[in-house]
Amino acid sequence: METSKKRESSISSFDRSKSYWNEAIPQTSPFPTLAENLETDVVIIGGGLAGVSTAYCLSKAGKKIVLVEDGNIGSGETGHTTAHLVTALDDRFTHFVKLFGKEDTRLILQSHQAAIDFVEKTVKEEKIDCQFSRLPGFLFRHPSDDKEVLTDEFDAATEAGLELKILDRIPGMMNNQEACLEFPDQAQFHPLLYLHGLCKAIEKQGGKIYTNTHAAIINADGIITEDGWIIKADDIVVATNSPVNDLVTIHLKQNAFRTYVIAGPVEKDSVPHALWWDTGDHDVNKDFPPYHYVRLFPFNDESDLLISGGEDHPTGDLPKEDHNEATRFQRLESWTREHFPLKEITYHWSGQVMEPVDSLAFIGKNPMDKENVYIITGDSGTGMTHCTIGGLLICDLIMGIDNPWERIYRPSRMTFSSSPVFFRSLMRGIKGLLTATPGDDRVKELEAVNPGEGKICQIDGHRCGVYNDPHGAMNIVSAKCTHLGAALHWNDAEKSWDCPWHGSRFAPDGQVINGPANRNLPLYTLSDEIPLERKGE
Ligand SMILES: Cc1cc2nc3c(=O)[nH]c(=O)nc-3n(C[C@H](O)[C@H](O)[C@H](O)COP(=O)(O)OP(=O)(O)OC[C@H]3O[C@@H](n4cnc5c(N)ncnc54)[C@H](O)[C@@H]3O)c2cc1C
Repeated sequence: METSKKRESSISSFDRSKSYWNEAIPQTSPFPTLAENLETDVVIIGGGLAGVSTAYCLSKAGKKIVLVEDGNIGSGETGHTTAHLVTALDDRFTHFVKLFGKEDTRLILQSHQAAIDFVEKTVKEEKIDCQFSRLPGFLFRHPSDDKEVLTDEFDAATEAGLELKILDRIPGMMNNQEACLEFPDQAQFHPLLYLHGLCKAIEKQGGKIYTNTHAAIINADGIITEDGWIIKADDIVVATNSPVNDLVTIHLKQNAFRTYVIAGPVEKDSVPHALWWDTGDHDVNKDFPPYHYVRLFPFNDESDLLISGGEDHPTGDLPKEDHNEATRFQRLESWTREHFPLKEITYHWSGQVMEPVDSLAFIGKNPMDKENVYIITGDSGTGMTHCTIGGLLICDLIMGIDNPWERIYRPSRMTFSSSPVFFRSLMRGIKGLLTATPGDDRVKELEAVNPGEGKICQIDGHRCGVYNDPHGAMNIVSAKCTHLGAALHWNDAEKSWDCPWHGSRFAPDGQVINGPANRNLPLYTLSDEIPLERKGE
């Protein structure tokens, strides 16, 4: 596997959209960058909730662990979440009972309940001040959905062992006289304070954490970082959200979706603390109806922060009526203002979730790999609990302890994507490649990219991604994903190059942000010479 070198970026101000949660944690990483070779029992790649939970469980169980993260702790999706901890599974009990049967659905439910209980217990034991609280959740019908959706869900969830209620109004929401389901004992917390609390405990338990350390090569012996340091390990856990060590197998079993969040103050105590979810807009997408999810967080003496998310779409693939990702924020704002007394919007951000075709995470031994390589992926909208289940289950597998969840979460289970989303994304990635025409006028192409904008251009026969940074410097990268070569899409809201095939994402200067790609995009330099030259790395 080719190594990806860290770039001296001309876009030093570039960062992903930052969530509200980032304000509570140190802006520079409190952890060192790896600068030596190491040997350990387990190396964990990824410092999000999945990796950190695994590191916590294993170090508590007595294993020597090293965790490496190529950004800061929580700088991936965990820093962009809304952190509802739910047993109200967002892909619905009706779906789980149909697909897995009553008994396995019970097991799935128990694993999510156990995950929330584990977080609650750990917060107490480790004295993590992350505002963990239990609260009810309300599921209500989107007007475009079937009339029976709630009663069907009530029956299926009851069959799986949940005790829930049907209410004839939705507590806390404006203009809504509709019925809803009340799910008891859901929870919420501040995700980054929880994560940093776990890291402190890991260090106390003797674990080692390194940030700004990119695992460039990952195999059954351990990892080699981009700076050439080697970590040898008996067991390897890849918790990079989308597995960067897998070329195809797992990526045929899940689709990447972007999801959007806005947040702003509401008058204190004007809305009760709870979680709300609708059943998704079936007029927008029947197969994956984008749904809305809302919670509060204590903000200051006068206000609570209302955090509203949703408007998901397959990464790199927006319906025709949306020109760019910004439209999704506008739709989210109108929906939220219709239902809650939001004063203004003070934060907005977006992130990505991996949706497994059968809605269950992939946790366990990496298929077609050596026995000691494990993955955690397929988080979906219930990633907080899925990642926690990941930590608990991988710990048992490595410790040789039988766990009844092993069978249901097994990554090698038979499932592959045949959904329309999968085929649309596939076609989009191919279409971009086929529309390449050599020999366009490079001056005209470049002049059309305004400062702060990114565009796909044809330059000297190359299909390039051109980003004109706000100071007028042109960054020209190859517009082919380094994972499997699909045509990339410019995401204007996040200022990133996004891949419609499997959700890989790159910064404007080509630095890789999201897997499965694990290498930067080749950077081009424009000289007076034709053709365009690839910059040496
Ligand atoms: C907007 C949004 C809202 C959400 N809301 C909810 C919710 O309310 N409830 C819920 O349950 N779930 C929710 N989710 C899902 C949940 O946030 C995620 O499932 C979860 O945070 C994923 O954690 P992770 O550890 O798998 O991934 P990440 O947090 O992305 O961590 C993976 C880490 O791996 C690092 N990495 C990648 N490659 C390498 C490499 N080669 N070397 C070193 N490090 C590497 C990355 O930098 C990253 O930090 C939401 C997600 C989003 C985006």
